[in-house]
This record gives sequence, structure tokens and C-alpha cells, in this order.
Amino acid sequence: MKILVTNDDGVFTDGLQALVKELKKIAHVVVVAPDREQSAIGTAVTLHQPLRVRRVRPVVPEVDTYSVEGTPSDCVILALSTLVEDKIGMVVSGINQGANLGDDVFISGTVAAALQGYFRGLHALAISIEAAGSHYLDTAAGLAALLVKWLDSSVVPNNAFLNVNVPDLPLAEIRGVKITRLASQTHIDTAREGNDGKGKYYWLVRHRADKSTDNQTDVWAIGQGYISVTPLHADLFNRSAPAIPGNLSSDLLQRLRQHQR
Ligand code: MN
Repeated sequence: MKILVTNDDGVFTDGLQALVKELKKIAHVVVVAPDREQSAIGTAVTLHQPLRVRRVRPVVPEVDTYSVEGTPSDCVILALSTLVEDKIGMVVSGINQGANLGDDVFISGTVAAALQGYFRGLHALAISIEAAGSHYLDTAAGLAALLVKWLDSSVVPNNAFLNVNVPDLPLAEIRGVKITRLASQTHIDTAREGNDGKGKYYWLVRHRADKSTDNQTDVWAIGQGYISVTPLHADLFNRSAPAIPGNLSSDLLQRLRQHQR
């Protein structure tokens, strides 16, 4: 199977590299990712200017790597429509440095990239680690590999769209895996005021994930030291959560510990 890897932090970032290293062990990987930081760009696509693409130094040896002067969504659309000749079977986006939780998935370029794959009938996985500059990217990368194998094992009836968040903890301290829903909260809801002499300006402020008291949510799970796996829909119609078949969460942590040995 061929996996498209992308992100919103930019093509030459530790999170993407860690992910590719791990996925390369189990599949063919191609990287098509933004040439620069595109975090919080959401689902934006570029329609009013040309998209420049460069083939660049492989992020991991022997992995075809393309750098796109565009958004994460642009990258996936380009990869699936034109850039990559072989059939792509799955889209994996990340590892984002910083959690993508609750209502903020609408802002996330990481999640948006996965969404473009899901729209086109593919399994799609967005994966983020709680903290920027995390020491535990390998844990998230190992988890991504296990989830890719699980998705590929055809126990999932339709194509799945999973938003995965990993707490910034050593693997031994991670308490388990929770299948969650999105918390109804955003972490970008305040602005800081400044004045540079030319006049007043504002900075939107992103704060750390709040604690949640609702133990069904992604924010709660991360706050309690659990890996959060949220199955998402791609339409905005109010319906029940998509089913995760089987015992995905019950033994996933155990398998991850074996995998990382
Ligand atoms: Mn990002």
C-alpha cells in the first residue's frame, strides 16, 4: 500500500520525519507537504494563484518528497490528482506539534489535510502530540503505524477519518487509549492588545487545553494522560458518532508498548 504523508508544520520538521521513518517500515510512503509552517490554516485551498511544487531532498532516505508552496489541503489534492502516479491508499497527516482538540479541529491544517483524503474515499488519520518540541514523537509515530495497520486490515467497513492526540508523556506513563468525541470548546478565544506607536493591534492567543469534566471528550482524555482517538465525520449534519468496530482501544496501548521495545 502507498501512504501519503503530509502535515501543516512544514515538510522539514521533526514530527513529519518521525512519522515517515516509522510508516516506511510497513508501507510505501510518499511525502507531499507545505514548504512552510501552515498551522491554523484550516481547510483553506489556493485557488487564486499558481501552486509551485519542488521535488526536494527526501525527509527519510528513498522516500519521494515534494514541497508545495501551498496549504495542507492543496498538498493532498495535488498528490491524489496529479503528483503521485501510484494509487494512494491512505492519508496520514502529522505528527503535529501541538494538540488538535475540540472545536479547534476546524482550524487545524493537520486535520484538514486528512479530511481531503477522507472526502476522496480513503482512510485518513490526523495525529498530533500535545506539546511542541515533544521528546516523545517516536511514541506517536509507533501509534500511527499501528493504526495504519489496523485500518488496512479491513475490519473497518467504510473509510475512517480519525483524529488522534497523544499526551506529552513517556510511554510508561500513558494510561490507555480512549475513543472520544470532540469537546465543545476552543483554545483560541482571547486576544492580547498591544500598541507599537502606529496604533493599537491585537494578537489572538492560543492557550493550553482546558480541563474537561466530560469523560467522553478528547480534551478530558488528554488531560488525564490517555491517548485520544476521535472518529470524525466529514459532514456537519448532526448525527451519532461513527462506530469504531472491534476492540481498538482495549489492547492498543499494550501493543504500542510491545511495538516500541
Ligand atoms: Mn501545526
